[in-house]
Amino acid sequence: MYMDLVPSTSILLQQKALYIDNVKEIPNNLIFSMFYIMDMKGGIGLSGCQIGYPYQIFATNVDSNPLLFINPEITWYSSEKDIEDEGCLSFPGVRGAIKRSRIIKIKARNASNEEFDLTATELLSRCIQHEFDHLQGIVFTSKFEIQPTDPVA
Ligand SMILES: [Zn+2]
Repeated sequence: MYMDLVPSTSILLQQKALYIDNVKEIPNNLIFSMFYIMDMKGGIGLSGCQIGYPYQIFATNVDSNPLLFINPEITWYSSEKDIEDEGCLSFPGVRGAIKRSRIIKIKARNASNEEFDLTATELLSRCIQHEFDHLQGIVFTSKFEIQPTDPVA
């Protein structure tokens, strides 16, 4: 289980993810699967909800630096923002420009249930904000600077 992406139309992508009370209850294969699927699909971030696990967990792998975030909170957003194109493993082939803070600070737990703080810049910052949105049930297409006038097939 947890080895495949749910369809882009799945309700899981539109729901707020649930808080993880006990990190030990995270299925053993979930974290492996998250990094495996990211690697196979050439992505740099993946949230649990994208593979059918509706809880507050996401993984990133920017510049070959794999990170796991459990029950994350973004505690600070820089007022400086950048607009860059983004994609999403749940929406193959779809890309759009999104404005996001250049720097963020995030607090989360790791797989050993240890709390950590991280300041992220540039691509990692963008990737974290994209994944954090997934946990709020926000899909990236809703944040495009220019909304398509025709429905995306
Ligand atoms: Zn995504």
